[in-house]
Amino acid sequence: MNIFVINSGSSSIKYQLFRWPAEQPVCSGLVERIGSDEATIRHTVFEQESATAEQRLVLPLSDHEAGLREVVRLLTAQPGGVIRDPAEIAAVGHRVVHGGEAFAATTLITAEVKAEIRRLFALAPLHNPANYLGIEVAEQLFAQARQVAVFDTAFHQTMPEYAFRYALPTALYEKQRIRKYGFHGTSHQYVAAQAAAYLQNPDARLITIHLGNGCSMAAVRGGQSLDTSMGFGPLSGLVMGTRSGDLDPSVLLHLLGPLGYSAEQVSALLNKESGMLGLAGSNDMRDIGQALAAGDARAALAYDLYAYRIRHYIGAYTATLNGLDAIVFTAGVGENDALVRAKACARMEFFGLQLDEEKNQQRSPGLRDLSGPASRARILVIPTNEELEIARQSAELLTAHA
Ligand code: ADP
Repeated sequence: MNIFVINSGSSSIKYQLFRWPAEQPVCSGLVERIGSDEATIRHTVFEQESATAEQRLVLPLSDHEAGLREVVRLLTAQPGGVIRDPAEIAAVGHRVVHGGEAFAATTLITAEVKAEIRRLFALAPLHNPANYLGIEVAEQLFAQARQVAVFDTAFHQTMPEYAFRYALPTALYEKQRIRKYGFHGTSHQYVAAQAAAYLQNPDARLITIHLGNGCSMAAVRGGQSLDTSMGFGPLSGLVMGTRSGDLDPSVLLHLLGPLGYSAEQVSALLNKESGMLGLAGSNDMRDIGQALAAGDARAALAYDLYAYRIRHYIGAYTATLNGLDAIVFTAGVGENDALVRAKACARMEFFGLQLDEEKNQQRSPGLRDLSGPASRARILVIPTNEELEIARQSAELLTAHA
């Protein structure tokens, strides 16, 4: 059977098609600038092992429906298409950012589920409406398929209350649902499962470190998230590409009061102008790495601050887990940036971490174990694959409801 995965953003749609049960990726693509006369589609078909055929289109796409219709045309084109009919797709797995407290697991989409996702628009105003739009369009274009929602927050619903509550008046939790939710759950869950399998220990105490444009860490034991660094929204915790991470709320009060910032300006500041961009002038670690090599002091400070925050959370989550079996680096920065890994693991002998610097510099696909001989805990790099995890969870749900 075929499983189609959709990640629908405000003006973009990422997609990937898998053959099941082989877990074989068949094609993937990205529709961008939806709503413009010069929208683009990049559609890649994986022919065999490594050979691929890529198509790039520039065309007017008025909305998500027009975008996905064009994708269906590419999927079913004869010759060159990967399916003959949209009805060949058994399930569409949708990435949905916020599942609130209602969704602790992947869920078949029903009218009630859609209503709950709409209720959650207030908690994720930038993401859930776009995810929802993707669901509505897919329901039309893949009418025979089961629609499945995979929530970024669901994996973290196992956090104990003392970890997910803020020390605010109880009514703000009970009436307004203000608490820590956490994000990137699909990625943390995927790499944690891979790590536990590698360690041959289903009860392994793991710290998963997702470093992409957004960054978060999670403490995972027995496949359950016990804590995570993002919170009510995706701003807390680690330093990110353009987001500040942890910040004393007094700073916000100072910005909003004496400095005269509006709420919109504060939001733009914390979401788009801070993090590595604010510290070092770029949100791409490759640029900052080059600046560092050229002797730029701001780049050096930015790297140190970025790594220092990771070290803090490794310490915190070792306490949460009462020990540590492995840390796992993943996503764009975690998989590629050897310097970040080296700085994050430096002087961490007390926590059982000793990096093999030579292995850290080597590049190879798949899981890598970078632990040195004196390391009591493993230091792993595991490429994340959120699309595959969404497809797996969708397939499991289909089997359970067959
Ligand atoms: P997203 O969170 O959008 O899924 P990714 O996981 O793709 O992001 O990570 C994107 C980030 O990864 C980029 O901003 C870039 O800083 C970083 N990155 C990608 N390749 C490298 C590399 N070779 N070295 C260092 N950083 C890299």
